[in-house]
Amino acid sequence: MGSRLMRWHIAVAAVALAGFLVVPDGSTLQLVWQVACGWFAAGMIAVGIRARRPAMRATWWLFAVGVAGNSGGILIEYILTRTEAEPGFPSLADVAYLSLYPAAAAGLLLLIRRRTAYRDWSSLIDATTLTTGMGLLAWVFMIKPAASDPSIGLIGHIFSTAYPVGDVVLLAMTVRLILSGSARNTSFRLVCGALICFLAGDGAWAVVNQMGWEPGPMAHKMLAVVFLAGYLLFGAAAVHPDVRALSSSIEPRPSRISRPLLFALTLASLIGPALLIVQALRHKVTDTLAIALGCVALFLLVVTRMSQLIKQLDVQTEKVRELAVTDELTGLPNRRAWNTELPRTIERVRRTGDPLTVAILDIDHFKHFNDAYGHLAGDRLLKEAAAAWQDQLRTADHLARYGGEEFVVMLPDATVAQAHEIVDRMRLATPLGQSFSAGIAVWNGSETSDELTARADAALYEAKNAGRNRICAAAEPANA
Ligand code: GH3
Ligand code: MG
Ligand code: MG
Repeated sequence: MGSRLMRWHIAVAAVALAGFLVVPDGSTLQLVWQVACGWFAAGMIAVGIRARRPAMRATWWLFAVGVAGNSGGILIEYILTRTEAEPGFPSLADVAYLSLYPAAAAGLLLLIRRRTAYRDWSSLIDATTLTTGMGLLAWVFMIKPAASDPSIGLIGHIFSTAYPVGDVVLLAMTVRLILSGSARNTSFRLVCGALICFLAGDGAWAVVNQMGWEPGPMAHKMLAVVFLAGYLLFGAAAVHPDVRALSSSIEPRPSRISRPLLFALTLASLIGPALLIVQALRHKVTDTLAIALGCVALFLLVVTRMSQLIKQLDVQTEKVRELAVTDELTGLPNRRAWNTELPRTIERVRRTGDPLTVAILDIDHFKHFNDAYGHLAGDRLLKEAAAAWQDQLRTADHLARYGGEEFVVMLPDATVAQAHEIVDRMRLATPLGQSFSAGIAVWNGSETSDELTARADAALYEAKNAGRNRICAAAEPANA
């Protein structure tokens, strides 16, 4: 089975589209051809549902109904023109044409909800921004003129506004689907392609009507082909093997704004002012309230998105700050943290007059341990030792990894004797029968943090020379 179904669909679709271009204009065959394309596509969606068993069957049935209904409208209109002198507007054909909008929108809604299991506020805001901008355009050029056409009654107004309103809703769903971060496989691209065909076709007709152009038979044909391609792309999406993965949701991603998206958002936010400028230049400002409301909505959306990004930036900055001062292996503060913490503590005890003791510890014969048990076991020892030592400390004490198998500890409010006792408890707590040597130094009331560390380091050197597994206190500096 595999993609044979897909290949077959592509072959038929290619013949269908090429054939439509050569069948005689205005012939019954042309009309039958169009309807057949739509119904074939709807049938292929049904075949896809049976063959691929996608998770969101309701979505695909709704697409099938929309495609069959929309293409069925062509047939109904033909029958009505043959049987009635003047079918009038709205007719049953319009009901069929319009059925695509609610069906496709409901199907997309189900699909989008399935694909975004998490609350994806940022892409929701982006989709709303783009839709609000386009909606404002649709209001000024399509919806308002349709609603105020005096030649049709109330029902006529409802139907003629339903087309552009349906387009705006479909556009909103399409943008939302494209911006939702889940699987972007072939089936996804085919669905998006189908939706874009319908929107582009309707958009082209809107421009044609707005400009009062009278499209020739060739232009008519090209516009009709776009809709036929939309039908067939829906069918292709349903029979493609990727359709199964289409509805699976993925982890939330950080709300990045890509360059094309930023460009689109900028354009959308400028639609309001641009309309106002155009109308002002023509001395015919007719949509003040709609444009003002649109601008307010767009402004609030942009501000919301901006505050969201700033909040995200704050969270990330905090995370980066945390990472910059943490040792990855042991989770202790690292040397960078120590280098800011020690001078700060020295400044504090300079004011308060409290004692401050600093110790440097270095694991004994760690190279041997690595050689005997492997580097990973060495890593584990460092991690376990850090945790075991931390357990021996008071909350005010500050243990950090200085580098390699060297650690430093700051003991505020501790005299030499107390510090000696605490560090000795740490030494005995070292796991796996290992030991360390340590040098301790009491701040002399005037030296810098570097000088204090250097004295503790010299004492460590002494402890190593004296046979390891011991603690040595530094001598007072000569100038103290
Ligand atoms: P001494 O008693 O004189 O301190 O001997 P030593 O072997 O501990 O000292 P030396 O400084 O010669 O060796 C330190 C070793 O620590 C060398 C290096 O491979 C190892 N080391 C440094 N950082 C890490 C680490 O993150 N993980 C592991 N597993 N080993 C490390
Ligand atoms: Mg060392
Ligand atoms: Mg060592």
